[in-house]
Amino acid sequence: MRVFNFAAGPATLPTEVLEQARDELLDWHGAGMSVMEVSHRSKAFVGVARQAEQDLRELLGVPDTYRVLFLQGGATAQFAAVPMNLASRGAVADYINTGQWSKKAIAEARAYLDVQVIADEKHSNYSTVPARESLGFTPGAAYLHYTPNETIGGVEFPYAPDPGETPLVADMSSTILSRPVDVGRYALIYAGAQKNIGPSGLTLVIVRDDLLGTAREGTPSVLDYKAMADAGSMLNTPPTFGWYMAGLVFQWLKRQGGLAVMAERNRAKAQRLYQAIDGSSFYANPVDPGCRSWMNIPFTLARPELEASFLEEARAHGLANLEGHRSVGGMRASLYNAMPMAGVDALVAFMSEFERRHG
Ligand SMILES: *Cc1c(COP(=O)(O)O)cnc(C)c1O
Repeated sequence: MRVFNFAAGPATLPTEVLEQARDELLDWHGAGMSVMEVSHRSKAFVGVARQAEQDLRELLGVPDTYRVLFLQGGATAQFAAVPMNLASRGAVADYINTGQWSKKAIAEARAYLDVQVIADEKHSNYSTVPARESLGFTPGAAYLHYTPNETIGGVEFPYAPDPGETPLVADMSSTILSRPVDVGRYALIYAGAQKNIGPSGLTLVIVRDDLLGTAREGTPSVLDYKAMADAGSMLNTPPTFGWYMAGLVFQWLKRQGGLAVMAERNRAKAQRLYQAIDGSSFYANPVDPGCRSWMNIPFTLARPELEASFLEEARAHGLANLEGHRSVGGMRASLYNAMPMAGVDALVAFMSEFERRHG
């Protein structure tokens, strides 16, 4: 039996997509073999790859002046690839620190350039984002990097920073495709696939044309945006199964009605869970209400000694992977696109029943 899987990543995928993959697993499009067993250079696979890009471009409204890359190495490889491609040694880049993923991006970037942390939300224990008007940018910075949604802290920007001429770079790993986004505001967007796109092993990069071809000497070719763009992301063997699965998810999103429809659903799902948390004295969410994530909702129990029983009983109710990140503890429910409202309803009902027995 399939459970409601609230994991932060690898995360739940649409059942319809998994069923389609299952149905065509042994004999993919009449090939007599699975999609994992065909050449990435075959006409059939290249067709799948190009269709996936086309569907993604349509869903996100990616302008023609941007390249879409299907890479490997996760978002973590991009922590290094971004400075290697967009800045020369000794250049300055601005970073906003809103929590654990920002911190990792900053730590990695320090090896490649001079990182200026222009805002750090430590003062609120990373339960806030900086006010838009408080941001001061470094003149001439190579780029500004930020994390629109902090997957661990459950903190999300309600706005996109506007650094003027400075290229804006976003780690959208845990928010991409959850709602419409104005791609034209960004110089570069990257995202690991395993939250809202497909299986792990695939990383999306959406990068503006004029930023290609400036990689510093010594950049590995698989991390060089221009080399990868020129090769259609097939400079070496791409993660073919992940690319295929991402394509099925993009088609599923189109069948749902696109990102405006997903935004409505995601907002409603998050609202339902926050209401349940705020309406109880047993559960609490530490994040400033102005920047609470739609995707990742951490919460604590008034009696932390009950966490283990909460998780065990939730699992028995078909509600899986509700434990918080190992670094923070507590609980966390991730409500990506593939989590239906029925899953949130089941969680809210369980929480209320658990509180009645233990509160
Ligand atoms: C999961 C996550 C990462 C790390 O992704 P990997 O693919 O494991 O490298 C980075 N940034 C954010 C915001 C994430 O949610």
